Amino acid sequence: MSLRFFNTLGRKVEKFVPIEMPKVGLYTCGPTVYNYAHIGNYKSYIFEDVLRRTLDFLGYQVKHVMNITDVGHLVSDEDEGEDKMEIGARRENKTPWEIAEFYEKAFFNDTNELNILPPHIKCKATDHVQDMIALIARLESRGLAYTSGGNVYFDVEKFRNTYNYSKLDTASYETGKRIEEDQQKKSPCDFVLWFTKSKFEGHLMNWDSPWGYGYPGWHIECSAMSMKYLGEQFDIHCGGVDHIPIHHSNEIAQSEGATGKIPWVKYWLHSEFLITTADKMSKSSGEFLTLSKLKENGFNPLSFRYLCLTAHYRSQLQYNDSAIENAEQSYNRLLNIAMSLKEESTNIGKADEEYLFQFRSALEDDLNTPQALAIVWGMLRDKGLTNEVKWAGLIEFDKVLGFGFAIMEKDKELLPLEIENLIKERELSRKNKDYSRADEIRNILLVKGITLQDTPQGVKWEKL
Ligand code: AMP
Ligand code: ZN
Repeated sequence: MSLRFFNTLGRKVEKFVPIEMPKVGLYTCGPTVYNYAHIGNYKSYIFEDVLRRTLDFLGYQVKHVMNITDVGHLVSDEDEGEDKMEIGARRENKTPWEIAEFYEKAFFNDTNELNILPPHIKCKATDHVQDMIALIARLESRGLAYTSGGNVYFDVEKFRNTYNYSKLDTASYETGKRIEEDQQKKSPCDFVLWFTKSKFEGHLMNWDSPWGYGYPGWHIECSAMSMKYLGEQFDIHCGGVDHIPIHHSNEIAQSEGATGKIPWVKYWLHSEFLITTADKMSKSSGEFLTLSKLKENGFNPLSFRYLCLTAHYRSQLQYNDSAIENAEQSYNRLLNIAMSLKEESTNIGKADEEYLFQFRSALEDDLNTPQALAIVWGMLRDKGLTNEVKWAGLIEFDKVLGFGFAIMEKDKELLPLEIENLIKERELSRKNKDYSRADEIRNILLVKGITLQDTPQGVKWEKL
């Protein structure tokens, strides 16, 4: 079998053939750092992490680039409303730069706790404004950009009539169904490349440009930064399904318009939403659950990772109390089995080839993680395998599952005094509302097979 993905370009499952085997250029749209990310966002980042780990597991050499949006992303992806960074700054009485720094740190703390691998290249929009200006100038020189009312727009009609471009969503550009509010646009589908004037005045983050003092539109940043680090054509671009009709369609138009090279990106992979009882989780609705809140509610971030793996990335994931409770139970069971296998395996054995093959095949089938998890459990229940073989298999599987069992394997045993000290530190952290540290300690103890119990005499520990 070979690796296959559902490619949003063409909307069908296709064999994955990178431009230059075995290298893979992977670009994933990163966070807009004006607020905490919610667990819906993390469903998408966990999918991208599993994708990257799968490519590594199968022997590809991945270069993963992710942007940090710290300017230019307006409330609506269609150039309406205010810059989200400025809203964040006003909400907290800080500068947009301070807001960006704070929420970027919060994002990487969360992704670290979810065992999401950091990108090889992390690029901030504000560090790449000159690259965006150069790209806009290139579009202008090819007649695909026009200035109106002080802003520079991408000319969708002109582009559409000139190029046989890579369409993600046939409906969006064809029907022009978007709401027309900006009277400066020639056509409702046009979008801003560079803002200077009109209703966007008073913006705090500005740069000099050939079109005046102002700031870039949101879509241009991903085209400029991905091409800077991955070349003018590359292999995979990812994001959530909400990005298909606007952000990613606009990115394609700009990039293919600027270079004339089609397709700009060979494979587009999009993850479906995490939804709560009624609707998708979103920041704008104000109803969203952060990873810190999840931890305050007593859940391990890795149980959430487990929950995400139980659903295919192209299926919606229904989030509710019983979903996370069940995932936590399964994850703890897996963790306990992993730790006892570790203890009982004096030698590192060789993983069972048949289970490895099945696991690999499940992932090659458009990242079928529910199937991959079923294979993991099947192997663990198999009475015909020794503990050494199971442990070796689990270490292999964990390269993709990303629970960190392999690293835990190297950990030394804790002495009783070290355990007591960690428990004291955990109590103190909880008193100081440092739930992140308290949870970290609980995890350290849990992976050693140590469980905690609150008793009238204080916290007691027990080794499983
Ligand atoms: P944002 O910070 O809003 O640009 O979103 C970051 C990533 O999360 C993007 O890839 C979005 O498509 C994705 N996303 C946003 N909301 C959800 C959700 N409820 N479930 C899954 N992914 C989401
Ligand atoms: Zn993007």
